[in-house]
Amino acid sequence: MNISTAQQALKHYFGYDRFRPMQEDVINCVLSKQDAVVLMPTGGGKSICYQIPAIISQGTAIVISPLIALMKDQVESLKANGVSAAFLNSTQSYTEQREIEEDLRYQRLKLLYISPEKLLTGNFLDYLCNLNISFIAIDEAHCISQWGHDFRPEYTQLAALRQRLPHISFIALTATADKVTRNDIANQLGMNNPQIFLDSFDRPNLSLRVEAGQKRIEKIIKFLEARPNQSGIVYCLSRKSTESIATKLRNAGYNAMYYHAGMSADERSRVQESFIKDDIPIICATIAFGMGIDKPNVRWVVHYNLPKNMEGYYQEIGRAGRDGLPSDTMLFYTFADVMQLRDMVSDAGQHQLQLSKLERMQQYAETRTCRRRILLSYFGETLEKDCGNCDVCRNPPELFDGTVIAQKAMSAIVRVQREMNKNLSTGMLIDILRGSRRIDLINQNFHTIRTYGAGHDISYDHWQLFLQQMLNLGLIEIAYDNHNTFRVTETGNQVLLGKFPVNFAKLSQFKSTPSSKVPTKKVSAKEQLGRELFEELRVLRKTIADKENIPPYVVFNDATLKDMSDKKPISVNQMMSISGVGELKLKKYGNEFIGLIVRFIIKKSKEGFKITGSTSLLTYELYQQGLSVHEIAQQRQLQDQSIVSHLANLYEMGYNIDIYQFTSEEELDAIDDCIRKMGSNKGVKAIFDYFNGEIPYTSIYFGIAHQNRLETVVR
Ligand code: ADP
Ligand code: ZN
Repeated sequence: MNISTAQQALKHYFGYDRFRPMQEDVINCVLSKQDAVVLMPTGGGKSICYQIPAIISQGTAIVISPLIALMKDQVESLKANGVSAAFLNSTQSYTEQREIEEDLRYQRLKLLYISPEKLLTGNFLDYLCNLNISFIAIDEAHCISQWGHDFRPEYTQLAALRQRLPHISFIALTATADKVTRNDIANQLGMNNPQIFLDSFDRPNLSLRVEAGQKRIEKIIKFLEARPNQSGIVYCLSRKSTESIATKLRNAGYNAMYYHAGMSADERSRVQESFIKDDIPIICATIAFGMGIDKPNVRWVVHYNLPKNMEGYYQEIGRAGRDGLPSDTMLFYTFADVMQLRDMVSDAGQHQLQLSKLERMQQYAETRTCRRRILLSYFGETLEKDCGNCDVCRNPPELFDGTVIAQKAMSAIVRVQREMNKNLSTGMLIDILRGSRRIDLINQNFHTIRTYGAGHDISYDHWQLFLQQMLNLGLIEIAYDNHNTFRVTETGNQVLLGKFPVNFAKLSQFKSTPSSKVPTKKVSAKEQLGRELFEELRVLRKTIADKENIPPYVVFNDATLKDMSDKKPISVNQMMSISGVGELKLKKYGNEFIGLIVRFIIKKSKEGFKITGSTSLLTYELYQQGLSVHEIAQQRQLQDQSIVSHLANLYEMGYNIDIYQFTSEEELDAIDDCIRKMGSNKGVKAIFDYFNGEIPYTSIYFGIAHQNRLETVVR
């Protein structure tokens, strides 16, 4: 077995031309029967690493996977690609299980997915050991580590399995970015000097952005306006807010639903199913949502609240863009969230550790340097240069002298504390600065301090943003141990005393909306056409998926539709070269998609767009209406000969054209002979001369087409 067999299988079953760099190495390792640990980010392409070796090896590969929903999806996708696979779990009926066992006995399955619980039932382990197993793959392998966030006791049973099958290789796969857990996996599994494959955890297709947390709903709606029909998730801290945000989005005309652990299992799986099937594109959810789904076309993720730590944040944004297409993420940052999270983690265990993780999260949100650098450095990777795909890179902050503003605020804090011995909350501080007539403010005599009203020209929201910047700059700090009140730091005092100035970032960039922030690129006519075609392909995909009762991405994923809308294949041959179109899908869906593309090209060329290949198709349309070559030529104001060459060309591509309208069996044989003698690339004129002009050009065009078409069919 070698890598070229593997490559052929990749093309045949999955429709991909080449392996990603690490996939090839992992596959080599598995084929040589060595243990392997594979650490790749979500969307990195882990499944292919064991699916291809399973397909080309003798026997059945056993895949241990913790989530039943995921298992089902994987098996469905494999079957759609013509790979024989099945899963066994507790939800199946006795008959179903018997059928699968029958398939196993006769070695009809290339992959069998099972849950770790299944391993523990009865004497299943004995049963398994008697099968012809090619190797064992352990998906979500971090579940074996007690250090991880997703420990599953059943996984510990896998070490026993490793001992029972000393001669079978194990491959463990995970997307965990947590170092402690990573190091624990091979140990816990009792692996045999495994090869470790560590991919970069960078996800360059995910754009990163942090927004100030004011007017969040408005900002989300702006964000959605620029992304019609795209699927995405809004992560929220509380169950209640998932519901209220979903309602607000629905009221704004968006098809949104909510999801949280307080719903019944039935309700939850219904929402999840609708999301997977593209029936409901937007889900407002607590972080419980997303674990059990493999949907590759989640195009965006919004964090309505700050996540507790970078691990969680990375995992949640990672649910976007698994298919590798550009996807957007947006995080809202407010102090209210920080305070709430601080309270939450203070009540939980490992309090100091949690707090410092929260602080790292905060630093990420506040940074003025490339965010991806910070994100990756947290996970121990370094980027050579700024990423160019985060808000800081796209829009470096513009600064202005904020000394006076800072002094006004700090002076108010100091006076209230020193002169009146009182503490200030954010709201009260801003109200003093803005000269509010709030009764409790007057009652406490706050209106008598010197800076009362000194900042009336700055709006409430802007004050919040300035205070946030002052915190970031270390001029003030929040006394978490003292009712979250403000305190002026030593640096702040220096500024207050006029020892040195401070710069603030201009607020225009906080206010501006996502779409206006990035200079809107002018969309070329070609791009616009591609987008329109993508939409039509998407609708066709959905119709087919509903008819077959499978998720749309199982038909084709977004990357495949994108490739189709770029390349616009109009023949089976061209369709075969689209990424993600394997043999079975070509057979099942190829014609329907080609048909749509042909109709699209004809429609658009009539509207005046220039599209490669369209002229032949316009001829074809008239040909189908029964017009003769001459009539078509007249209508299209072209030469008869051009029409003939169009039709010959289409015939060669496999279109349904009656060749004997244009030539005869004898002529075809003669031309065939001639080409064989002269070599295939002599051209029409040479063949014409060969026959001394006795065979007309029309026949020669078709003769050449006939030969090429036969070759295509043979291949
Ligand atoms: P993971 O399990 O690591 O999150 P998947 O196995 O789901 O990732 O793969 C992510 C996406 O990348 C899928 O849509 C998959 O079809 C695609 N993919 C995997 N390998 C290749 C490849 N060699 N060429 C093109 N696309 C690939
Ligand atoms: Zn960047």
